[in-house]
Amino acid sequence: MGALGLDSVVSEARTAFESGKTRGFEWRKFQLEALLRLLQEKEDEMCKVLKQDLGKHRVEAYRDEVGALIKTLDNALLNLKKWMSPEPVSLPLIAIPTVAEIVPEPLGVVLVFSSWNFPLGIALEPLIGAIASGNAAVLKPSELAPATSDLLASEVPKYLDSEAIKVIQGGPQVAEQLLELKWDKIFFTGSARVGRIVMTAAAKHLTPVTLELGGKCPAIFDSLKSTRDKKVAIERVAGGKWGSCLGQACIGIDYLLVEEKYAATLVELLKEVIKKFFSNSEHLARIVNKHHFQRLCDLLQVQSVAASIVHGGSVNPEKLFIEPTILLDPPLDAEIMTEEIFGPLLPIITLKKIEDSVKFIRARPKPLVIYGFTNDEKLRKRIIEETSSGCIVFNDALIQYMCDTIPFGGVGQSGFGQYHGKFSFDNFSNRKPVARRSFILELSFRYPPWNAKKFQL
Ligand code: NAD
Repeated sequence: MGALGLDSVVSEARTAFESGKTRGFEWRKFQLEALLRLLQEKEDEMCKVLKQDLGKHRVEAYRDEVGALIKTLDNALLNLKKWMSPEPVSLPLIAIPTVAEIVPEPLGVVLVFSSWNFPLGIALEPLIGAIASGNAAVLKPSELAPATSDLLASEVPKYLDSEAIKVIQGGPQVAEQLLELKWDKIFFTGSARVGRIVMTAAAKHLTPVTLELGGKCPAIFDSLKSTRDKKVAIERVAGGKWGSCLGQACIGIDYLLVEEKYAATLVELLKEVIKKFFSNSEHLARIVNKHHFQRLCDLLQVQSVAASIVHGGSVNPEKLFIEPTILLDPPLDAEIMTEEIFGPLLPIITLKKIEDSVKFIRARPKPLVIYGFTNDEKLRKRIIEETSSGCIVFNDALIQYMCDTIPFGGVGQSGFGQYHGKFSFDNFSNRKPVARRSFILELSFRYPPWNAKKFQL
C-alpha cells in the first residue's frame, strides 16, 4: 500500500471516530466482546501462528498471549461501565459552592506499533485499551512475526468494526509512512532505537506517545536460608529467564546478581532445574530469525565472554535454537552486559555483598523491572528506596504482567507511560476535568480595585 493508500485508510478511521459511534458504551462493549469471540473461536489458529513465528509451545502461547488477552478482555468488560463513568472530585473550601468531576473522553484516532516477541499479546493488549476508551485505532503488527501479522490482518476486520479499527501490515517503510500522518496518540512497543524515531515524528504534530521499551532487567538473588524457598526461587528464576519466548521477553530476567560465596551453589541449582524443565527443547520457543540468532551468537563469540560459560552454549542454526546458557562473571564492558540480551543467555555477576547490587543497578540505565529474591526486609527496603525501575517484583518473575491492577510500563531508558487494566483505559483517554459553579455565592475580594479592607480579609 502506498502513502496515499495509507492516508485513505487512516482518514476512514478518522471519519468513523468523527461520526461519534466509537464513543458509546454499546459500541465499545460490542467490539470487546467481538475480540473475545475472535480469541475463543480462533484459538487453534493463533497457537499455530505463534508456533510458526516463534516456535512457542501451545501451552506457552495460551498462557502468555491468548489466555492473557482473554483475562484482559474479561476484566475490561466487567469494569467498562465504571471506567467510563465520571469520577467525582473533592474540592477545597475556597471553591464552595462548586462541584467537579473527571469525565474521560477518547483521544481520537490512535496508532499502535507492536513488537514480534509477543506478537499477539503486545498488539492486542493496547488495542483493548484503545477500544475501551472509545477511540478509533490503527494497529501495525511486527513484520518479524509474519504469520501472526497475517492472521491479525485477515481476522480482525471480520470480527471488529472495520471502519474504525484497522490493521496495516508492513515493516519500517510502512511504519515511517504512518508516522508522517497526524495521530491523536501513538502507542509504541519496541526498541529504544525506534522509540526515538517515533518520538521525533510525533513531535512534529505534538502527538502524545507511550513508549514501552527494552528491559535489561536484573534479578538480585540473595542467599535464601530455607531449602523450600531456595527451590521455589530457583525455579522461578529459570521460568523468568528461559520459560517465556526463550528469554526474548522485555520483562524476562536479563542477568543475576549474587554474592561471590553463593555463586557456585547457584550455578549447580540452576543446572539441575534446567535439566528438569527444559530437557525437551520442543517445549521451548525459538529465536525469532537468523539476524537475532546471529546477534546472540556474536555476544557469545567474544573470547572473554565464551570463557565465562559454565553451562550450555550450544547453538543450532537450522532450528534457530540456543540452549539455556549460564555465564559466570563475563566482563562488564562486553556487549552481553551493556546491551539488552533478549535471548537465553544468563550472565551471573558476583558481588562481595548482596547489598552492592543496589549500587550496581544504580550505575546503569533504569530497567523495566528489578527482581529481588530475598527474605531480608532491610534489603527489600533498600531496593525499593534506592533504585529506580518501571516495577519491582520480589520472589517471582513475570507474574506482574498478568495482574491488571499493576500498571505496566518503564521509566528512563525503559520507556514511559503505563497500561494494563484501568491504566490502559486512562492511557488512551483524556481525563477531562469538568467544574460547575453555582451563582449563589460571590466574594468581592477576588476582583480589583484592591484596597486595605479587602486585604484585611
Ligand atoms: P523494533 O523497535 O525493531 O520494532 C518495533 C516496531 O517498530 C515494529 O512494529 C517495527 O515494524 C517498527 N519499526 C521498525 N523500524 C522502524 C522504523 N525505522 N521506523 C518506524 N517503525 C519502525 O523492536 P522489536 O525488535 O520488534 O522488539 C524488541 C524490543 O522491544 C526489545 O528491546 C524489547 O525489550 C522491547 N519490548 C518491550 C516491551 C515492553 O512492554 N516494554 C515488550 C516487548 C518488547
